[in-house]
Amino acid sequence: MVPRGPKSANRPPRDVVDLHCHSTLSDGQYDVETLLDKAAERQLRALAITDHDNLDSYAIGKDLARERGIELIPGIEISAVHEGRDIHVLGYCFDPTNLSLNLELKEQHRRRKERIRAILKKLAGLGVELTFEKVQSFSRGGVLGRPHVAQALMAEEYVSSFSEAFQKYLGDEGAAFVEKRGLSVEEAIRLIHRAGGIAVLAHPLRTGVDDLLDKLPDWGLGGMEIVTGLKKAAAVRKLRDWAVDRGMACTGGSDYHGDQSPCGLGTLSIPYRALDDLRDKLEIQKTEWI
Ligand code: AMP
Ligand code: FE
Ligand code: FE
Ligand code: ZN
Repeated sequence: MVPRGPKSANRPPRDVVDLHCHSTLSDGQYDVETLLDKAAERQLRALAITDHDNLDSYAIGKDLARERGIELIPGIEISAVHEGRDIHVLGYCFDPTNLSLNLELKEQHRRRKERIRAILKKLAGLGVELTFEKVQSFSRGGVLGRPHVAQALMAEEYVSSFSEAFQKYLGDEGAAFVEKRGLSVEEAIRLIHRAGGIAVLAHPLRTGVDDLLDKLPDWGLGGMEIVTGLKKAAAVRKLRDWAVDRGMACTGGSDYHGDQSPCGLGTLSIPYRALDDLRDKLEIQKTEWI
């Protein structure tokens, strides 16, 4: 726990936000409360915890955030598929109790389990024996994903590092790779809209989105994640201009997963006005839907 004496309570929070990070509800190292402690330590004004296909961070964290003087924003990172490629769509400011969204997330969880079982089958064919239960033990109740398989591979000493697990087995080029199935990008965006939220494309430069750019405005994308710590200034500027020209919000986030993450929580100095801008865009979107 961070000490919250009268001194820290009186200090105005830094005008900085982080709109992308992961807890143990998906593949993050720290639980929601610990992330909020870290956010308080860094004096963040607002935080969105954007777990893969899981929206429970808001219900778990909203009171804990208030106690720490942090504004917690409902957030999620939905996994979508475009021509066999994994595309991550961030959702913000939605109603976490929305039925369609919650039902579809249940389906995503079922598909994730199915995919993990298919990966384990491929691994077994390669002489790598891991049980589903072993993999699940690393998820601590959260949404299952390849990182948990990577952790199991390390624990059983089949690989010596996380990156080796992806390189050798789990990544696109890995021997046990299984394509993801599920929502299209358009469906993911629509789902976030139906829950009253705004959709933002996660880490577009890391994913590569050249084949998608033309379609995204028609699909109702509300923003681009521009500030991610990626040091490709010219490409970042070009994408920012593209988004601004189309009336989209420009957001940012650390994509913090834990101690091994390249970018620490709240370290990107993303100004609070980025969140204000996102909300303004959402209000405009809502009037367009009427
Ligand atoms: P999944 O949703 O099961 O496909 O897992 C995707 C997650 O795995 C990403 O969000 C990252 O956290 C992690 N990941 C993907 N590729 C790599 C990689 N090459 N090295 C380390 N982690 C990765
Ligand atoms: Fe992840
Ligand atoms: Fe992502
Ligand atoms: Zn992420």
